[in-house]
Amino acid sequence: MNYPQILKEVQEEINAQQLEGKIATYIPELAKVNPDCFGMHLTCVDGQHFAFGDSKERFSIQSISKVLSMALAMQLEGNNLWKRVDVEPSGTPFNSLIQLENENGIPRNPLINAGAIVVADVLVSHLDHPKEDFLNYVRQLSGHQMIHFDLKVAQSEAETGFRNAALANFLKSYGNLQNDVDTVLDFYFHQCSIAMNCHELVDTFMVFANGGCLLDQSECFFTLSQTKRINAIMQTCGFYDEAGEFTFRVGLPGKSGVGGGIVAVHPQQYAVAVWSPPLNPKGNSAKGMAALELLTTKTGLSIF
Ligand code: GLU
Repeated sequence: MNYPQILKEVQEEINAQQLEGKIATYIPELAKVNPDCFGMHLTCVDGQHFAFGDSKERFSIQSISKVLSMALAMQLEGNNLWKRVDVEPSGTPFNSLIQLENENGIPRNPLINAGAIVVADVLVSHLDHPKEDFLNYVRQLSGHQMIHFDLKVAQSEAETGFRNAALANFLKSYGNLQNDVDTVLDFYFHQCSIAMNCHELVDTFMVFANGGCLLDQSECFFTLSQTKRINAIMQTCGFYDEAGEFTFRVGLPGKSGVGGGIVAVHPQQYAVAVWSPPLNPKGNSAKGMAALELLTTKTGLSIF
């Protein structure tokens, strides 16, 4: 596959289009980002990698972190996790409250905010030093020791995260939050604030393209069954109420965040990350969606 040529074409074709989008401003700190940033990084399972644009600039990974917290919670809690959070696509916006009431405090899946807050609660219960331990887990998966929380983003979200506070209180009222609401939210805001660039994101998610193991096979973090489940949840729930559209257009498991990042994996082939901050009305990076659609169209490869 001629990835250098394909990525060049993706970059040129996307830059030639006028794709509309709006930067997320509900977390004030996110509004400061340059809307013109656009980068992509792709690493194949044979270790070859290719990139363009702002692929080395860090951004707030936001909801992409929910895959990593879910993965750790699956390891720590096993199947008991699924008693507290379901695995069905939500078909509602990421921060919706309505569904939670209709379904008696059991969130539809771990990748919407309500589900991620339950997962955060599980991690707070299990970990001795939750924020520090989670950050170390992410560093281990990625192989990058310099990955950090962006404390300004975490603080900014804490000051304005009223809907998440509502969700957490709601969960608590249903008995689906064991720890103190403020402690769980503090963990959740920090996990969402992790900053990575496209290259680091790809390195972190490579395990999900590689059967749960690092590329050099020196360590396996997940069993094949866990890897299958994590990819399945990304496929069905990774794009808010646009998961069907992403599957239809791109055909890969992936996860987006309101910082404008998207990461996707093609099992046994590659992991890819793209970043462009302006979001479409469903909250996914407008250029990122289009770029990944072009990638799978040009390679002629998807999981379907
Ligand atoms: N921290 C963000 C929130 O809870 C994450 C949203 C996202 O990336 O979808 O609103």
